[in-house]
Amino acid sequence: MAERKDQAVTAFGKPFATTFPQVADALIEWEEEGHTLSGRPTQVRPGPRMSVEEGYFQGTIRCEKPGCTGGGFEVDRIVQFMVQDGAEERRGLLVCGGWRHGAGGEQGPPCVNTIRYRIRLTYRKGSEGQRG
Ligand SMILES: [Zn+2]
Repeated sequence: MAERKDQAVTAFGKPFATTFPQVADALIEWEEEGHTLSGRPTQVRPGPRMSVEEGYFQGTIRCEKPGCTGGGFEVDRIVQFMVQDGAEERRGLLVCGGWRHGAGGEQGPPCVNTIRYRIRLTYRKGSEGQRG
């Protein structure tokens, strides 16, 4: 029944709350490492974002590079590491592991599209007793 909604907030292919029950909200912002055709760095602009509270979160960010096959950015792995460490914020780079289409359907060169991400987690409180 609420099929669409369940699929909109997922991590490792399951509902986010099932995968990370201790996380109330996860906010991810990212932007692609810019390369304009003229070689200048792209302008810093607000990139896309997704958030559990806002109802849109996917464990893998789709790679936007045209012709990329099997690519994407597995942010659910990073969230998992953060939860293990109890970390609330992490920034870094992720490189796409996909491939470009070659001529005639052959496998082309690696995609190596790169995003710069920032992840912020909000943990649930109260279930393990109160501190402070
Ligand atoms: Zn890619």
